[in-house]
Amino acid sequence: MSITIAVGAQGGDEGKGKIVDYLAKDYDLIVRYQGGDNAAHTVSVHHNPFILHLIPSGIFRNNTSVLLGTGMVVNPDALQAEINSLRSFGISLNNLYLSEKCHILMPYHILLDKMADQSNKIIDTTHRGIGPAYMDKAAREGLRFEDLKYPDLLREKIKILLPRVNALFAHYGASPCRFENIYASCLQWRKWVLPLLVEPVSFLHRFLNTGKNVLFEGQLGILRDVDLGTYPYVTSSSPTAAYACAVSGLSIKQVNDIIGVARAYPILAGHGPFPTEMDEETSCILRGTGEKPDDEYGGTTGRKRRIGWLDLPALKYSAQINGYTQLALCKLDKLDTFSEIKVCTHYTLNGQIIDFMPDAFLLKSVVPQYITLPGWKVSTRNIRCIRELPSNAKNYLHIIEKTVNVPITMVGVGPDRDEIAV
Ligand code: GDP
Repeated sequence: MSITIAVGAQGGDEGKGKIVDYLAKDYDLIVRYQGGDNAAHTVSVHHNPFILHLIPSGIFRNNTSVLLGTGMVVNPDALQAEINSLRSFGISLNNLYLSEKCHILMPYHILLDKMADQSNKIIDTTHRGIGPAYMDKAAREGLRFEDLKYPDLLREKIKILLPRVNALFAHYGASPCRFENIYASCLQWRKWVLPLLVEPVSFLHRFLNTGKNVLFEGQLGILRDVDLGTYPYVTSSSPTAAYACAVSGLSIKQVNDIIGVARAYPILAGHGPFPTEMDEETSCILRGTGEKPDDEYGGTTGRKRRIGWLDLPALKYSAQINGYTQLALCKLDKLDTFSEIKVCTHYTLNGQIIDFMPDAFLLKSVVPQYITLPGWKVSTRNIRCIRELPSNAKNYLHIIEKTVNVPITMVGVGPDRDEIAV
């Protein structure tokens, strides 16, 4: 039996989908434990890019079960669309399960998200309803998938929560939601959702008690954590490794491995401070046109990603919080053509080196201090063993390992599932 947690070590889009897909062959169960369809994992299987917003990447392995775990907020319509799309490619969904304790992301959450975003220009949401769904969860007015089991109780719950939802609609000048429409959608979802539901704690422990291996996959990255990230430019849940245990009914003592998935150069989607952001000319080289799966455009929104040089203070902060036992570094190949590569080793503030992660306001004023390393100027795409990487690339990895004090055990050298050096 082993338990591994793979989490984003930066601000998201680090390559978790690819790393989890690679690891999945050794695991019996893969669990997603937070977020909703607001981010995407792209898994290239034989050069076909599949974008998954909700279903864990292990779905491509026949003998691996996948669980949309407690802690997620799941839009049933988005889940059904994802199921249909995978089915149309002949992917089996027999091993797909959904925690009955997951919150249902309702159509009114999406509308509230859009209306709130129009009046609040501070953060930049994906309009998938994630924030409002978590608000209802915290307010104890959310609907969980288990509610679909009891239609009469469900009817009562909707009647109780609807006045508050409609008060918010009125606040934004929108016409109210109708009870009949909401209830009808729930009854419709009920037909295909009930067979997927499991009581999540006993389900998980059944795997563990029979010696099976379980892998938890985080969504987004540590800098998007609602408490420890660059608030308010964060998500509404916690992408930390510890949260996988907290929300799944698992003791932290049982975890064997915590894999931090990082990128060789970080990106930021949306607003917020980004100390190591590159100039637009260099960003363009890495961003591409959007035609290739690994070009830097959001998998959910299609928005241009902001791109930066490797930020070691942020990675150290992330390692401190998550306690990585290993790092997987993706997208090294994208630096193959660079003659020089900058790495931020520390931040200064008012001329002084700082040893803490500043709040979002102060982070705008830090001055990143860089070292410049020579590039390797050869393609790494066909390399499958870290030892065989060019020496300047190994030097780049070595500096990361030394600073963060965690070994790099996997290196992504291309978008496809096999393009990985170990
Ligand atoms: P996630 O949001 O952390 O799951 O990130 P994804 O797994 O979706 O990866 C983001 C994008 O980077 C996807 O288009 C992947 O195909 C691509 N990708 C992942 N790893 C690598 C890599 O090592 N090299 C290249 N070139 N692309 C990669």
